[in-house]
Amino acid sequence: VGVFFRPVEKISAVIETYPKGIAGFRRYTELLDTRPDIADAPDATPAPKLRGEIRYEKVRFGYGENRPVLDGIDLAIPAGKTIAFVGPSGAGKTTLCSLLPRFYEVQGGRITIDGIDIRKMTLASLRAQIGIVQQDVFLFAGTLRENIAYGRLGASEADILDAARRARLDGMIAQLPEGLDTLIGERGVKLSGGQKQRLAIARIFLKNPPILILDEATSALDTETERAIQQSLTELAEGRTTLVIAHRLGTVRNADRIVVVDRDGIEAQGTHEELLRQDGLYRRLSGAQAELLA
Ligand code: ATP
Repeated sequence: VGVFFRPVEKISAVIETYPKGIAGFRRYTELLDTRPDIADAPDATPAPKLRGEIRYEKVRFGYGENRPVLDGIDLAIPAGKTIAFVGPSGAGKTTLCSLLPRFYEVQGGRITIDGIDIRKMTLASLRAQIGIVQQDVFLFAGTLRENIAYGRLGASEADILDAARRARLDGMIAQLPEGLDTLIGERGVKLSGGQKQRLAIARIFLKNPPILILDEATSALDTETERAIQQSLTELAEGRTTLVIAHRLGTVRNADRIVVVDRDGIEAQGTHEELLRQDGLYRRLSGAQAELLA
């Protein structure tokens, strides 16, 4: 289904470098389509450096006039832990995660990070502390360096190289005659699906946010590439509070906690072993692994 996350960085930076053409135009209008009701509150202040302890308290949210997708959601996520959200398509996993960077505003209840209501933080300071990895990687016509530095505008060469190394893009860069100055896109090198994912990961290493959202929508990557990317994502998640919209059994098993979401809200939560012991949705989903991975 997918309400997808808009790139959260400064729009002005995007306008300058964004490629022309239909696809570019579509994305560009999406960027400008910020919801008028989501803005800094008059009393909003910049968030301090967050540890990433997240709480949803009686959260309610629905799209338009429809029945709320989420109602009475209570969830406490300790700082630094990895939480996997599983459940049938349309249950609201993506919606739940998209409330955190305030792509949509809660209609009831509240969300806090480190005890601070996210509506009391400026949007920029909130979003600067959340990294998002999704299938659809946002690239622009420019060099590899510029595309990686999009994670943190103004980053130094050493930091860009370090992020590339941690995302294991360094091997590829070393093989390119122009290295980081190689253009990507139509006039330069075309990146494979796996390389795009790595670029997205490099951006987040550079941004170094305390909170991470991983959207594991079914991917077009082959199993081997996927396994290698998975390793980098595990490293990226280390020490960050990580919310995963999970589609891979491996991710789910390794999560500190699994939250099972169905149409009526949170059905259960616990570790893989705990949930398997219960006669609930998780056991049925694990039995029908194909469904969990769908
Ligand atoms: P999936 O695993 O398929 O991504 P999900 O559990 O993440 O599903 P959501 O994408 O959060 O589910 O969708 C929850 C419900 O909200 C669905 O009924 C969906 O149709 C609806 N929905 C999602 N995005 C929008 C939107 N932008 N406008 C209106 N309804 C939406």
